[in-house]
Amino acid sequence: MFLTQYARKVTLVVRGGDLRKNMSSYLCDRVVANPQIEVRYHTQVTAIEGAEHIGAVHLRDEDGNVVREDTTGLFIFIGAKPRTDFLPPELARDDKGFVLTGPAVAKLASWKERRLPEALETSLPGVFTSGDCRSGTTKRVAFAIGDGALAVTCVHNLLGTYATRRIDVLNETSADRSDESH
Ligand SMILES: Cc1cc2nc3c(=O)[nH]c(=O)nc-3n(C[C@H](O)[C@H](O)[C@H](O)COP(=O)(O)OP(=O)(O)OC[C@H]3O[C@@H](n4cnc5c(N)ncnc54)[C@H](O)[C@@H]3O)c2cc1C
Repeated sequence: MFLTQYARKVTLVVRGGDLRKNMSSYLCDRVVANPQIEVRYHTQVTAIEGAEHIGAVHLRDEDGNVVREDTTGLFIFIGAKPRTDFLPPELARDDKGFVLTGPAVAKLASWKERRLPEALETSLPGVFTSGDCRSGTTKRVAFAIGDGALAVTCVHNLLGTYATRRIDVLNETSADRSDESH
């Protein structure tokens, strides 16, 4: 929709056969009603031509037919996998690979700490995550920014917990010593 303000024609290349599966219906309605937008279903970009700038793309439909379309721009709108497979297995994830935090971690048998996990703490105590790779988040820029800020608060909370515990331990130790001296 945004690009139609600047381009005469926008071609939406969709690998699947249904825009509504992954897009809000209000947006689909606007896309379909816009005469400047052509939607090509069951189609993939198979090649990009150009030396310093894009000059054309090759589009292949489901029957294998390839057409060459002149264009000066290509915007990729793909990416919903969390790509968290590089993380160690001790860091629990949901069935789609998004990292579990806070209340979800508290329910895990593997959580052995004597305290509840912080809101953005993972199943590895002291390791935090925020943004798109976190399970249950809204995959939006504004959300990710807020989540990042919350992660800092969680770190401060945890450091505060350890600091208090250290004071408790020190108090216990000095009390023990004073008991021994009597
Ligand atoms: C095509 C597309 C369009 C979008 N449009 C919108 C929109 O219009 N409005 C909106 O609000 N949101 C939009 N989003 C969602 C938005 O981009 C995300 O919600 C936001 O970027 C999440 O921020 P993040 O910091 O959690 O993750 P990311 O922005 O994904 O940042 C994660 C970073 O970690 C890096 N990384 C990954 N693995 C490793 C590793 N092993 N070691 C080191 N670094 C690593 C990545 O390179 C990346 O830089 C869109 C997303 C996509 C894919």
